[in-house]
Amino acid sequence: MTSAVEVIIGVIVILGLAVIAIRWRAIDLQGAIAGVIISLLAFLAEGFAWLFMIVIFFGVSSAMTKYRYDYKRKLGFAQDKSGTRSWPNSVANGGVAAIASLAELYTHTEIFAVMFLTSVAVALADTLATEVGLLSHSKPRLITHLSKTVEAGTSGGVSLLGGIAAISSAVGLSFLGIAVAVIVGNSLYDLFSAALAVVLGATIGVFVDSVLGATVQGINKCSKCENLTENLTHHGQRTSTVRGLRYVDNNVVNFTSILVGAISSIGLYLLVNAL
Ligand SMILES: [Zn+2]
Repeated sequence: MTSAVEVIIGVIVILGLAVIAIRWRAIDLQGAIAGVIISLLAFLAEGFAWLFMIVIFFGVSSAMTKYRYDYKRKLGFAQDKSGTRSWPNSVANGGVAAIASLAELYTHTEIFAVMFLTSVAVALADTLATEVGLLSHSKPRLITHLSKTVEAGTSGGVSLLGGIAAISSAVGLSFLGIAVAVIVGNSLYDLFSAALAVVLGATIGVFVDSVLGATVQGINKCSKCENLTENLTHHGQRTSTVRGLRYVDNNVVNFTSILVGAISSIGLYLLVNAL
């Protein structure tokens, strides 16, 4: 159990990061508050080891979102508001990690450690697949129709560069998570099967993200400027849906794919250990 001093240090670290994130314009106030709640849950569950994973996710994904932002904006698909993210983004990316943290807090079971690590790995891999994929010189292909190329940034579009970024970040985060667990001495799990479950679960999550992005994710059109958007209104007018489901935006797809990846990793972990 964490001591009072550690709790104070943890809270200072979390609030300090929130202030830095707002100053960087990586996230707005509501997004930061949601991030603080998610980080506190992870910290209460397994201390600095889990908090470190969230710090890695936030640092790497913010840096990659900002990296060559102007170029991505020219493509027309960069994050709105100069890359600043808000609370739906925090909940979409961190909601499953928060659920895993709550479950871990009350049970201290290894399957929730696997679930937590996978949820962070999928969130990071999804973000990197998009942000690194936007830099690819070849046009992405639709995951449900690989012979068809689509514009960079189209949901459901996949690129080799984005895919490599996704899988390598999942592998990296998985091994980092295991290494940290070993260093802090709370490695209750079978390390090999945990790493395998996290990497495979994260891969499933990224795949599901692309498939949902290509099928149910809504693409709406503004009647005034003709731009495609996932917003329900644009230029003060209601947009019309041209593909997918109107209310299924990128955040809904992210949350769902992270949940599927995380639950898959629990199944894989139990399966590998049962063999
Ligand atoms: Zn418009």
